[in-house]
Amino acid sequence: MEQNYASYLNHPVFKVISAELKTSNVKAFVIGGFVRDLILGNKSKDIDIVVQGDGAEFAERIAKTLRVKKVSVFKNYGTAHFKYKDIDVEFVGARKESYSPESRNPEVKPGTLKDDQYRRDFTINALAIDLHPENLGELIDPFNGLEDLEKGLIKTPLDPDITFQDDPLRMLRAIRFATRLSFKIDIECLRSIKSQSERIKIISRERVTEELNKIILCDEPSRGFKLLKSTDLLVFIFPELLNLAGIETINGKSHKDNFIHTLQVLDNICLSTDSLWLRWSAIMHDIAKPATKRFDKKVGWTFHGHEELGSKMVPRIFNSHRLPLDSKMKYVQKMVRLHLRPIALVKGNVTDTAVRRLLNEAGDDIEDLMKLCNADITSKNEFKVKKYRENFKIVSSKLQEVEEKDKIRNFQPPINGEEIMKTFNIGPCYEIGVIKSKIKEAILEGEIENSEEQAKELMLQYGKELGLKKD
Ligand code: ATP
Ligand code: MG
Repeated sequence: MEQNYASYLNHPVFKVISAELKTSNVKAFVIGGFVRDLILGNKSKDIDIVVQGDGAEFAERIAKTLRVKKVSVFKNYGTAHFKYKDIDVEFVGARKESYSPESRNPEVKPGTLKDDQYRRDFTINALAIDLHPENLGELIDPFNGLEDLEKGLIKTPLDPDITFQDDPLRMLRAIRFATRLSFKIDIECLRSIKSQSERIKIISRERVTEELNKIILCDEPSRGFKLLKSTDLLVFIFPELLNLAGIETINGKSHKDNFIHTLQVLDNICLSTDSLWLRWSAIMHDIAKPATKRFDKKVGWTFHGHEELGSKMVPRIFNSHRLPLDSKMKYVQKMVRLHLRPIALVKGNVTDTAVRRLLNEAGDDIEDLMKLCNADITSKNEFKVKKYRENFKIVSSKLQEVEEKDKIRNFQPPINGEEIMKTFNIGPCYEIGVIKSKIKEAILEGEIENSEEQAKELMLQYGKELGLKKD
């Protein structure tokens, strides 16, 4: 690979910085993720600039030339940030950090580029490119980061024991980058992470979850979860998921390893969605299997009710990860609760009634539920998989057919309470609820069509049975 990257620095931010450096006595370099991604040929959404000198003051000058109005300056830290078009630009004064074991926050002093590169987490994240016009595009790579990029290796610039001890979040970052870039983690780093995995406890749950979500949003998150397990980090950040691992055998009958299965489902669903919450649904879908596991002499292993219990476990797990306890959580609960329903149809007889009931419960999330169901087909038995996938297609088209006919998905009863009250000249009362739910049941059961005319007829009939008189 080449060592000069001047021709790649055509973003206006670099042009302005470079021009400014001509007449200034500071030095500035683009560093970290941007350089890594540039060499890998990936797009970056942020630019980090390290400045030898006053980073904040330099940033303000650059922002002015670019006519950026809003600059956030943190004078104490010598950092500044602004957004230029759709890219985040961050300036930091080069710094030297020293950690003491008693404190999580390092002592920070101004330093050189080299000092700043020493405090970076990985060799591939410590690469810098000079922006001074005289050395424009020159790569500054004190730890052979370029070589590690070529080898596909995540490695710390310093002794990994010290690097991870100073900031244990780096253990998760190592796994996140390994997952995203399909890189290997250096064996010494892996050993080091395993030896001090418990230190992840000192990192706030919010920051841990931020990294976890980034792993989940990779193309093949199973890689990350396998690393989290093999380094023991999973024990501390997601014990319920770890609990799924393992196979038990009684009387020669074994159940599958539900950790491996869950990861397969997760990878599968990533092929059809970028949604973080649908991906979380895949992670959670079998979470209650250990708690519901039984061995029955006749049928073997059962996990009855794991979908209901799993759905109930979601709030506590979301809370422990500091994930939002709002509509997103409710959505994941719903996915977990309903995840067996389409497959039950796939495996059994597909009646219109069953399809209508499913449509009614899933509502607008039916497509997502079907994606989860499809991802959940992971048997080792190829014949079974083929059969299920064929049946799955039948269920999908049946769902479409029934929805077109009956419009159940956003079910609005064709007759509302007001109309019932008017018809029988009554006020709000218990009978209204009875009539409404009977009409809904009749529609779902296919006894009547989802139409006003047929519902009205039924309303009159039920009203009569309940002793109500038409006005
Ligand atoms: P991306 O933004 O694509 O997720 P990135 O490498 O840019 O990846 P950031 O979190 O934006 O990651 O951090 C920018 C740079 O800051 C990194 O490349 C790395 O050099 C440095 N860095 C970030 N976090 C740490 C940390 N915990 N320890 C040491 N260096 C870090
Ligand atoms: Mg970044």
